[in-house]
Amino acid sequence: MAETKEPTELPVTLIDPIEMSKLDTRFREEIHSMPNGDELSACFACSTCTAACPIANIWKYKPHQLIRMMLLGMRDEVLSSDEIWLCLTCFQCQERCPQKVRVTDIFFDCKNLAAEQGKVPPNITGLGKELLEKGQLYTVTADWEREDMGLEPEVPGLAVDAVKEILKETRTGKLVSGGE
Ligand code: SF4
Ligand code: SF4
Repeated sequence: MAETKEPTELPVTLIDPIEMSKLDTRFREEIHSMPNGDELSACFACSTCTAACPIANIWKYKPHQLIRMMLLGMRDEVLSSDEIWLCLTCFQCQERCPQKVRVTDIFFDCKNLAAEQGKVPPNITGLGKELLEKGQLYTVTADWEREDMGLEPEVPGLAVDAVKEILKETRTGKLVSGGE
């Protein structure tokens, strides 16, 4: 009779086992109470959101996993994750969710919660500072295209002062400086 070998190594998993003692069950309620969180608990982990996401294949935590992590109360992992900031806000996941979970909007809420805790990646704070200072992120330089279309080559100036004023009146400065 053939000898059965005992497995010598644990199976490889993408994510470490969850430490139940570290779960924060208030996190689920917090997201739930936000304007986009109504249907959070209706998620039945079908992974349709992940199948629809154009970049989930390069994410450590996939969209359906992030939603599940919120339901479990994995506050630190979700709010410290790169993925909530890498989201393209293309709404493919949200459009297709059979349970009407507002996946993209919930990721927005998570970004706001992370920003309140000063957990904003440096590239995002850099963009925020640029926006505060200049009132716009990119300068339009398509003079040749405008010329081809018979338009005045010079792009009319944007009303950046109004944008700067709005940003000054909001807490954008505080958020991009990590709450300092
Ligand atoms: S598509 Fe909706 S129900 Fe399915 S896993 Fe994603 S959030 Fe949950
Ligand atoms: S909105 Fe974000 S999470 Fe949803 S499909 Fe697009 S990139 Fe993926």
